[in-house]
Amino acid sequence: CGIFAYLNYRVPRTRKEIYETLIKGLQRLEYRGYDSAGVAIDGNNNEDKERFIKLVKKRGKVKALEEELYKQDDLDSKTDFETHFGIAHTRWATHGVPSAINSHPQRSDKRNEFVVIHNGIITNYKDLRKFLESKGYEFESETDTETIPKLIKYMYDNRESEDTSFSALVERVIQQLEGAFALVFKSIHYPGEAVATRRGSPLLIGVRSKYKLSTEQIPVLYRTCSIENVKNICNSQMKRLDSSTCLHAVGDKAVEFFFASDASAIIEHTNRVIFLEDDDIAAVTDGKLSIHRLERSASDDPSRAIQTLQ
Ligand code: GLU
Repeated sequence: CGIFAYLNYRVPRTRKEIYETLIKGLQRLEYRGYDSAGVAIDGNNNEDKERFIKLVKKRGKVKALEEELYKQDDLDSKTDFETHFGIAHTRWATHGVPSAINSHPQRSDKRNEFVVIHNGIITNYKDLRKFLESKGYEFESETDTETIPKLIKYMYDNRESEDTSFSALVERVIQQLEGAFALVFKSIHYPGEAVATRRGSPLLIGVRSKYKLSTEQIPVLYRTCSIENVKNICNSQMKRLDSSTCLHAVGDKAVEFFFASDASAIIEHTNRVIFLEDDDIAAVTDGKLSIHRLERSASDDPSRAIQTLQ
């Protein structure tokens, strides 16, 4: 029901500040109604230790989630996250009862390798679940959403090369999805990176930096960009960019990105926003935001989705 995510790139933030930003984002979305709430954040920023993603989820109000977060023993840990990506969600259950296990973020596996927040409904989730179970992926929730983190793990486990990008995996995932969705992904395999996409459910990205941001023609990362309605984040007066332009926030400069299903959660942070359109895939890597559009060819008949997976 409500999506909020926050990526700080080269902007040091304490764990407490990250919690506060995520909770405030969720509070702005509360008016939409929901039955449970949850967040995923990095468990540590120590290079020597094994990376992990920490999930905190609660049935009930955002207030209950906030109290749970403030009970965490690492709250006062002094280490800053110079770069960090946290995701947060309020759920309005469509598939599966309101409960902590059914709330989001949903995860790929017990190690939380991939976590995702989702607004909307995946109509072909039964087929996807059957397929993934036949491949040995074990489900823990009753949600339609859980097929998505499992599917991206499947794509990751079966990737053809070590340098397959996060966004390429997401592209493969959404080719298999039917229904409506706004999604934000986080992964231990892609630390400090974010991927967001949508079809039929709203999603926007706010950008904040004290440095001048530039847009420029950048080498096309995956395919030709075809963003017809990208707003120029370089000007507070928004203007249209030409269709072959990718947005490119200057990569070596401190920058923050806010992802939300509703502008009301972003507006207090920045007025530089980009509204994603159907099948846009937005990725932040090394502080750079790029967006490309999935092109669904005629052969991508959704009814053949499961066959193409195998
Ligand atoms: N269909 C998903 C679920 O029931 C997402 C619902 C929502 O948009 O909050 O978990």
